[in-house]
Amino acid sequence: MFPLSSDRVALRFRDRTLTHAELASCAGTLASQLVGLPRVAIWATPTIETCVAVVAALLAGVPAVPLNPKVGERELAHIVADSAPACVLVAPGVQLPAGLESVPRRDVTLDGGPVDLLPEPGPLTPALIVYTSGTTGSPKGVVLPRRALVSTLDAVAEAWEWTPDDVLVHALPLFHVHGLILGVLGPVRRGGTLHHLGKFSTTELARALSAEGTMMFGVPTMYHRIAEEVDTNPALADALRQARLLVSGSAALPVRDHERIFLATGQRVVERYGMTETLMNTSVRADGDRKPGAVGVPLPGVEVRLVDDDGSTLSGSGAVGEIQVRGSNMFTEYLNRPDATLEAFADGWFRTGDVGTRDDDGYYRIVGRKATDIIKSGGYKIGAGEIENALLEHPGVAEVAVTGEPDDDLGERIIAWVVPVGARPAADELADHVARLLTPHKRPRVVRFVESLPRNDMGKVVKRALRA
Ligand code: ATP
Ligand code: MG
Repeated sequence: MFPLSSDRVALRFRDRTLTHAELASCAGTLASQLVGLPRVAIWATPTIETCVAVVAALLAGVPAVPLNPKVGERELAHIVADSAPACVLVAPGVQLPAGLESVPRRDVTLDGGPVDLLPEPGPLTPALIVYTSGTTGSPKGVVLPRRALVSTLDAVAEAWEWTPDDVLVHALPLFHVHGLILGVLGPVRRGGTLHHLGKFSTTELARALSAEGTMMFGVPTMYHRIAEEVDTNPALADALRQARLLVSGSAALPVRDHERIFLATGQRVVERYGMTETLMNTSVRADGDRKPGAVGVPLPGVEVRLVDDDGSTLSGSGAVGEIQVRGSNMFTEYLNRPDATLEAFADGWFRTGDVGTRDDDGYYRIVGRKATDIIKSGGYKIGAGEIENALLEHPGVAEVAVTGEPDDDLGERIIAWVVPVGARPAADELADHVARLLTPHKRPRVVRFVESLPRNDMGKVVKRALRA
């Protein structure tokens, strides 16, 4: 699965580094102690030990469950009961919460020696069990086979022209697909380098990119911070300008942020679309047209179709339907949830729950999630994202989320939750702005001003919390 032989730096976390050969040795040593365990948990702090633990579990063929170190009591209890880990792997000195007391602790050290290669497990052997972000409901344990990991990593490597010379810089958490699979296993499989910042800061990002970075991965909240600062921070602008590829995913990148970064640096951020269950589905390619607001074309090995409410496949550009995918990038099941697994598929296609469109040139655009972003108002189906992008073009709007609320006349009415830039703009002015840019029926009926939006660890707006 990994080349793991070179003397190139594989992992850099501040002043700590491991070469691929050193990683092979310490992960290999740990792997030989894990072989035969049914499942292990990993306390996924942003450390080199977390990476070693994940690689060790993969080498041993033992399914690993990465845990969010900020997880709350109730969610942790659910995950521990659901996944029943034989032990929890953790960096030395890190304190574990009471909810893990019943699980034996095993410290991950960076000791190693010569190791014998373990036999490579079969492609459908579960490799990781990753819990979804819990944006729309409680998190589900997604069982990912080795084949899905390899297939997605090779597909993005092809699309992004990712080579062993690339140094990837990011500050993503290591318990989700984005930071862990793309962000750690990506460089390890490529034989390249990960430079992890520990914590996101534009200063550290600029420093790492100018020192050695060629690529950056981030979520839209990070690109938003960059967009806010890049005009007045020449070091940041220079560092971004000389990077080879800036990639965004996990949620929609607002068009306004994409454009501001482009104006200041000449770089167009590349958007890709994926999810825990399917890993990566589509991406703008390194050599492709980097259109703002579009998530690109299907990756190698992935088929994508759009389906309407009656289950018929849509063709023709501009048609709006649920995105369904199939391919070797797919999970095998939700852990202990045969009901949910069955419901998630339609004739072998995974129903993503995301609604999208396809342009003439084959590029996909995400309109929003079926469950929270499609508002049925006055006989129209309206995507929240389009209204959010329009509102962000108003100078008085810092952040925004659009939702629907039951309405006697309209079925649902459009609500805009707005974090203002300074003084609150008039609600009518915002509504008129949307009507002018889009169409009158997309006007928010109600504007609610808030100090901040509820976001989860990936920076995604949790719309069900807004509604409650
Ligand atoms: P849960 O399934 O628990 O509600 P979640 O769907 O947020 O949480 P993830 O699997 O981490 O958990 O996220 C996948 C979702 O993120 C996708 O279904 C899609 O809605 C969204 N997403 C990912 N990338 C993009 C993108 N580039 N643009 C828009 N949305 C995206
Ligand atoms: Mg989901």
